[in-house]
Amino acid sequence: MQYNIAVVKGDGIGPEIVDEALLVLDRVGEKFGHSFKYTEVLAGGCSIDANGIPLTQEAIDTCKAADSVLLGAVGGPKWDDVPSDRRPEKALLGLRSELGLFANIRPAMMYKALSDACPIKKEIIGDGFDIVICRELTGDVYFGRHYRAESGLGWGEMGCDDMNYSVYEVERIARRAFEMARLRSGKVTSVDKANVLETSRLWREVVTRVGLEYPDVTLEHMYVDNAAMQLVRNPGQFDVIVTGKLFGDILSDEASMITGSIGMLPSASLSESGKGMYEPIHGSAPDIAGRGIANPIATILSCAMMLRYTFGLTAEANAIENAVEKALDAGCRTGDIATAGDAVIGTHEMGTKIRELI
Ligand code: NAD
Repeated sequence: MQYNIAVVKGDGIGPEIVDEALLVLDRVGEKFGHSFKYTEVLAGGCSIDANGIPLTQEAIDTCKAADSVLLGAVGGPKWDDVPSDRRPEKALLGLRSELGLFANIRPAMMYKALSDACPIKKEIIGDGFDIVICRELTGDVYFGRHYRAESGLGWGEMGCDDMNYSVYEVERIARRAFEMARLRSGKVTSVDKANVLETSRLWREVVTRVGLEYPDVTLEHMYVDNAAMQLVRNPGQFDVIVTGKLFGDILSDEASMITGSIGMLPSASLSESGKGMYEPIHGSAPDIAGRGIANPIATILSCAMMLRYTFGLTAEANAIENAVEKALDAGCRTGDIATAGDAVIGTHEMGTKIRELI
């Protein structure tokens, strides 16, 4: 079977890490008898250079026509001074909305071989952790009305941001989280601030109701302040965390930092049809771009997520994830995950090692 993938290499280290990920996909295709066809799309800073804007209609159309989108990273200091409506990040927002992406899935797991990089004490981490954060993308305070008003209290002007969540949006993300938990260890933690916010009270009501459809999954509710604390106190207690856009933004960064390695973490953003955009959580790392030293693992693992979530190719996804684990167990380290005394390898060597292990 042929799978059509739109490939947005982007800026900075984007092209280096995506090239390695595509070689890994080719290896999976060879081993399992699939063909992956890639169509390159310019988006971000490189599109500003070529077309004057970060995202063209042609790029949008190519991504919509593909079965899936793989993205490296966009942005960099070269485009820091362009007007805000034409900044490279606009390409990401444009693609997310054009593709109808509503669920951002971010795993945060600790590899045993990298436990030294984890900033939390070994006695707390125990056997490690394997969490997935399922973050809603379309509602919340980001897309409400943003405005200024008079406070009327003599305190001067007020900044106001409306926070909104509809039943439909909460149901949709809750179902995604419960389905995901079914494939894992069967527990969902819904994070809100229902002691204060009306949006959160609706969120909690709806998640509880949807949860009744999944009696095999354990549901717990947690306030966001407690969740932030529990993530560093005992991350092993979490399996799937489902939350809104604002809380998810903060918790997913916290979760990624406790793994100790930003270059390791993949992500998926999914639409209702199951199509998705897959990308590492890190940025374009302009400080190391063009030197062949970036860690390609987050992008390679993003391909594994694509195989699992959009193409339903579980054995193929497992093959990539196992190869990454084996490469780490064998001591392969790019600079970002090396500790004193480790031999450091480059982007291409890491990609090659992972390919060999598939
Ligand atoms: P960054 O994630 O690019 O870099 C932060 C630090 O992590 C840097 O020291 C970098 O060298 C290191 N790093 C990141 N990825 C790495 C990898 N794969 N291997 C080894 N080291 C890695 O974040 P930043 O510096 O805040 O942002 C740089 C640019 O990226 C900015 O223009 C920002 O807007 C953009 N950005 C893009 C995305 C995206 O495309 N999704 C996300 C975040 C930031």
